[in-house]
Amino acid sequence: MVAKKSSKFVGNIAGGGKVSPHKHCRICHEPISVKAEPRVCKEQACIEQNEKDEKNQKTVRIAMFVFFGFFVVSTALPLLLQAVG
Ligand SMILES: [Zn+2]
Repeated sequence: MVAKKSSKFVGNIAGGGKVSPHKHCRICHEPISVKAEPRVCKEQACIEQNEKDEKNQKTVRIAMFVFFGFFVVSTALPLLLQAVG
């Protein structure tokens, strides 16, 4: 019996380079320029949505930080007071 060895090595790498590097709008996923900053297309709706998202992310980050800080203080402070007292 002969084992069927099909070496299917498709040269995808050799065929690359046809698609120029590009990014996608993070809101509507339209292809945009790599240098586009922020990563949105020129649609006003997308720019506004992106700004909103960034503000939300900032708020969430601050809330997390505050919560974490509160958690650390409420956990560490009694221990510290115990150690001192
Ligand atoms: Zn867009």
